[in-house]
Amino acid sequence: MKKRVTILGSTGSIGRQTLEVIALLSDEYEIYGLSASSNVELLAEQAKRFSAKRIASVKPMEGLNNIDVLTGEDSASELARDANADIVVLAISGIAALKPLLNAIQNGKRIAIANKESLVCGGDLVDEALVKYGAELVPIDSEQSAIFQCLKNGKREEVKRLILTASGGPFFKLKLEELSGVSMEQVLAHPTWNMGRKITLDSATMFNKGLEIIEAARLFKFGADKIDVLIHPQSIVHSMVEYCDGTVIANMSLPDMRLPIQYALSYPKRTASLARPLKLEEVGNLSFFKADMERFSALKLAYAALNAGGGYPVVYNGANERAAELYFGGIIDFLDIENAVAYAFDRYENSKMRSINDILDADFEAHRLVDEFAAQKGKK
Ligand code: NDP
Ligand code: MG
Repeated sequence: MKKRVTILGSTGSIGRQTLEVIALLSDEYEIYGLSASSNVELLAEQAKRFSAKRIASVKPMEGLNNIDVLTGEDSASELARDANADIVVLAISGIAALKPLLNAIQNGKRIAIANKESLVCGGDLVDEALVKYGAELVPIDSEQSAIFQCLKNGKREEVKRLILTASGGPFFKLKLEELSGVSMEQVLAHPTWNMGRKITLDSATMFNKGLEIIEAARLFKFGADKIDVLIHPQSIVHSMVEYCDGTVIANMSLPDMRLPIQYALSYPKRTASLARPLKLEEVGNLSFFKADMERFSALKLAYAALNAGGGYPVVYNGANERAAELYFGGIIDFLDIENAVAYAFDRYENSKMRSINDILDADFEAHRLVDEFAAQKGKK
């Protein structure tokens, strides 16, 4: 029997690459459900090509022959809950993935998770649901996939630290004062990975790595003191785990998201993939640099959010998400993204996240504070 896969966010960068993997492994996997937000043309095309049974879109769309079509804001959550799928791939961007994640968990099966915002914001709520329903999370995010694999080499109590690598983005060699003049074109030209627009911006600001610090803490249950970041511009070593005896286990490959996507589907099995083989003799040098917490305040704020707990991780994500929107809208400039998040941090009153509504309220407050920051800047 083939495994049935639902891809939430199938029209995005991760979603499309997941379909490439499924096409390669069509003897073992088939598509059950697909979802998108507004790109209904591509969604319809994918649904026909992969013979999907159910699809979901936020934007209204016309019916398709023999395919059940769900529409509206909650359609992805509805599809997530459909227990006919053996694996749900969570490739929706942003906090919009939180409800679909919580619904998919209720099926008690595997969730191959690319979305980091839902883990960062979902915190205890996600953990409690995982325990209650016995669902399994397998990470797709390349750093988390690397750590997931490196952690198979020892016992939990033998782990000294997790070392997340970061490419440093396109500006890692620039000084702080040189960053004010960078163009959006430069921001969106990532040196090693080809990804969606928001995560590419997050790589340039280092908020992506900040989110991954919190994501790693959530996934692997280690505190901030056991998670380090190392700049590695070639993106060959995807992350590492250092053990108590001094051994460091690293996970390496050429940067290609189809590899961690495939592993998240097939784990614990490995099969031939679409990724080009790594030839270290062609790569030549691998370099590593300490991550400067003063230069990258996105990292400093991430550790602060993790240590403070409560709603701070939600505010970290929400303020960055809103600041990114304002940046793409031409309302604030590049360096204001971190200033806007710091502004929101200074003014947020922490509270416990007991329900999804608490999380959405903290997210709303983060957006409001960033808008307040932008309005004050506009007046100056
Ligand atoms: P994209 O922006 O390329 O794709 C996002 C997908 O989510 C699209 O299918 C989009 O639909 C859908 N979507 C957006 N908003 C909503 C919503 N409100 N409700 C339902 N569906 C929605 O993002 P990426 O593929 O780059 O990233 C997806 C997630 O994976 C992010 O959380 C990112 O951080 C993470 N990730 C991505 C990596 C990458 O290489 N791209 C690497 C590691 C992690 P539509 O096309 O119709 O707008
Ligand atoms: Mg990553």
